[in-house]
Amino acid sequence: MTINILILGAGFGGLQAATRLKEELNDSVDITLIDKNDSFLIGFTKFDVMFGRRSSEEVKSYYKDLGIEGVNFVQDTIVDIDTDNKIVKTISADFSYDYLIVALGADLAPEAIPGFVEDGYEFYSLRGAEKINPVINDFESGNLLISIFSKPYKCPPAPYEAAFQLHDLFVKKGIRDNINMKMLIPGPIPLPIAKNVSAEIEKLLKERNIELLKKHKVVELNPVKKEAMIENNDSVSYDLFIGIPVHKSPKVIQDSALGNNGWVSVSKDNLETNFEKVYAIGDVTSIPVGDLAVPKAGALAEDAANVVANDIVNKIQKGEKNYSYEATGSCYLEFGSGEVSKINTNFLGGTEPQITLEGPSIDFRNDKENFEKERIKKWFK
Ligand SMILES: Cc1cc2nc3c(=O)[nH]c(=O)nc-3n(C[C@H](O)[C@H](O)[C@H](O)COP(=O)(O)OP(=O)(O)OC[C@H]3O[C@@H](n4cnc5c(N)ncnc54)[C@H](O)[C@@H]3O)c2cc1C
Repeated sequence: MTINILILGAGFGGLQAATRLKEELNDSVDITLIDKNDSFLIGFTKFDVMFGRRSSEEVKSYYKDLGIEGVNFVQDTIVDIDTDNKIVKTISADFSYDYLIVALGADLAPEAIPGFVEDGYEFYSLRGAEKINPVINDFESGNLLISIFSKPYKCPPAPYEAAFQLHDLFVKKGIRDNINMKMLIPGPIPLPIAKNVSAEIEKLLKERNIELLKKHKVVELNPVKKEAMIENNDSVSYDLFIGIPVHKSPKVIQDSALGNNGWVSVSKDNLETNFEKVYAIGDVTSIPVGDLAVPKAGALAEDAANVVANDIVNKIQKGEKNYSYEATGSCYLEFGSGEVSKINTNFLGGTEPQITLEGPSIDFRNDKENFEKERIKKWFK
């Protein structure tokens, strides 16, 4: 009987898991990939939309053009995951499985901060990136706040990237001196898991005259007074407020036995959940690193997908296990004017997380462009 592998979510993790499994197992398995959307995009292309370098259509790759031969793609919303009976329900069908890979990512909850939907802007959703573009183009003077409401959030350097690129935009327009830029973060340093890179980011912010307000957790916006309310009853006034929306585990996960009302817990070794042959990868998981957790990033979701594919191949072919999840990957930090830094990570391979920052340099621009091109070429026709 053919083995059924069901993959939930066709983002970084789901697409890579399908690719690796097909490469290794070819026609000996049936692979079904389910996603509610009609298209995929690389996370960092939202900056291109935000800054008007590309349109939303230009950054999307449609699943109708999926290039992973033999994978059955279903566009539908998953409404129930029943790990006892090994059944996943979508709005219009039920799917059984022998192996299940959950790669449903993280949902955004802008409504979690009162006043934010009414008077704040974000660039973490494609719609948010589209909406913010004319706003930043029209902004000429006043207080600009960029706030990280809470952890965890996707791609921890991304808010700083936004600040650097906004600075660059205002310098080019000759209006930087009219704008007071501040970043408000809930913690004591920019990237708590990476002290060395945090120091570098602080330096880069200072060089650009972007004030960093640490331990400033914004809990509410007052759209009438144009004030961001801080947890300790302070407030900071704004003319333009940009926030990183609160992230939460998808509802279908929270409602299932996997989510336990939050993110999915997995074995650090092979990313299997508490349920046999049920795996979870990418942003939907929470994997401890000391007191912190492996960050949510596409490159790490891809690394996780490779480990899970290896584990499934190993189980099916009864092979020798010679891999484990180290959470390795590279991520890019865009500064505007073509300059890019590269952050290389290995969170679980050693006794301490290893994180290095190279650049900024024009040289990493090609690297970043190739990161996107290679993935689209691998996953789409
Ligand atoms: C501005 C920005 C910049 C970024 N830059 C980088 C970067 O430089 N490097 C990097 O590595 N990462 C970056 N990221 C983060 C990266 O995009 C995510 O971490 C990555 O997409 C996570 O992959 P994933 O497979 O876990 O989830 P996703 O890619 O989010 O995929 C989850 C999929 O599940 C689907 N889904 C969810 N719920 C359901 C449901 N109920 N039914 C059906 N389908 C469902 C969704 O439609 C989605 O396609 C950035 C993110 C942002 C916002």
